Amino acid sequence: MRKYFQPEIETAPREEILKIQNEKIVKQVRHVYENVKYYRDLMDAKGVKPEDIKGVDDIKKLPFLSKADLREAYPYGLLGTDIKNCVRIQSTSGTTGKRVVAFYTQGDVDMWEDCTARAIVAAGGDEGDVCQVAYGYGLFTGGAGIHGGSHKVGCLTLPMSSGNTERQIQFMMDLNATILCCTPSYAAYIGETLAEKGYKPEDNKLKAGIFGAEPWTEEMRRDIEKNLGIKAYDIYGLTEISGPGVAFECEEQHGMHINEDHFYVEVIDPDTGEVLPEGSKGELVFTSLDKEAFPLLRYRTRDICVLSREKCSCGRTFIRMTKPMGRSDDMMIIRGVNVFPSQIETVLLNEGYSPNYQIVVDRVNNSDTIDVFVELAPEQFSDIVSRHQAREKKLESAMRTMLGIGPKVHLVAPKSIARSEGKAVRVIDNRKLHD
Ligand code: ADP
Ligand code: ZN
Repeated sequence: MRKYFQPEIETAPREEILKIQNEKIVKQVRHVYENVKYYRDLMDAKGVKPEDIKGVDDIKKLPFLSKADLREAYPYGLLGTDIKNCVRIQSTSGTTGKRVVAFYTQGDVDMWEDCTARAIVAAGGDEGDVCQVAYGYGLFTGGAGIHGGSHKVGCLTLPMSSGNTERQIQFMMDLNATILCCTPSYAAYIGETLAEKGYKPEDNKLKAGIFGAEPWTEEMRRDIEKNLGIKAYDIYGLTEISGPGVAFECEEQHGMHINEDHFYVEVIDPDTGEVLPEGSKGELVFTSLDKEAFPLLRYRTRDICVLSREKCSCGRTFIRMTKPMGRSDDMMIIRGVNVFPSQIETVLLNEGYSPNYQIVVDRVNNSDTIDVFVELAPEQFSDIVSRHQAREKKLESAMRTMLGIGPKVHLVAPKSIARSEGKAVRVIDNRKLHD
């Protein structure tokens, strides 16, 4: 079995990675300054010239880019090459507003697919595997990105796209899929459907899952691993920087290795923009070191996490990022307290509930309210009202301990919360309607 897709770089000594980064950034800044007027104007306004950037240590002199810039420059304003050199467009899912588009040259696609191939090999994939790609195909980067990586590794690729769960299961069982790739919420749904059909975890041939594109907790990982009988690996990415595979988990399952030969990473204080030391929690910022068509420098992701350079037993030398606990946009401020949906998910799974839940936030008489709707499994469902009330009170109290504020919990009937085939919608914030 292969251990690395590109061992020379994945296990390269730190000095070598740094040398590559230093060389690439000098070239990349010049490329962007010469070809992307939008960013040249930002650099000029800040008084930074390409010759001021002599290595990655100088990256902090460069201006940031944000989603707002991408929306303003939509569609061609950040293009780094003649459109004739581009072979592909992908688009964000639009989770937080108007979609933005990203362009790729053939070189960019190749680099991206190398990154997803590294992720597949890190999850134990090789030529003998059957890789079921149940991320959406199309403008979304999930399907296309993993598909390309699966080809590079030499897996037999099942290009299922998301949805049609009956067919997913039929092909999974008939064609002996060994690796499942989709969002974690869809993996949970597939696991639930398999169980309903009477399959036990050991009835499928799956050994691994590569799940990402949305936040998920360690509790959710354990749940999926148990229900599908697999080892579940996290994968992270975003369209603006390429797509899934910017970072990926190894067998340690302890943080995702960032493909540092292609992406330079910083963590900043989201309020001040100050670069934070390793180990601090903050917003991830990526600089693409060698993308040609859509070469973003210092792109603010709004994803909150922590970086670690601690040595990893897998032998990879790339820096690791923790699971993002959610985007800064996902953070709800409820009566002045910061709350992430992932905290609620942790409580629910720890208390023995399914990951089928929805959070509704509102404002009543100038005070924020938070209601959590939690689905009961069929075996938990009982007609005795008093038992329900006791369960609700217990969950409310566990959540109050975790969050510092008390949500109202409503236990609802099995199957009453919509399942997700892509990115799950966990929060409905009605306060925005009143603003
Ligand atoms: P959109 O921003 O519209 O959802 P994308 O489809 O490009 O567009 O999604 C990228 C975003 O998805 C990331 O910025 C991050 O918030 C989220 N994401 C991707 N992978 C993960 C992951 N493994 N864990 C948590 N969040 C993730
Ligand atoms: Zn590792």
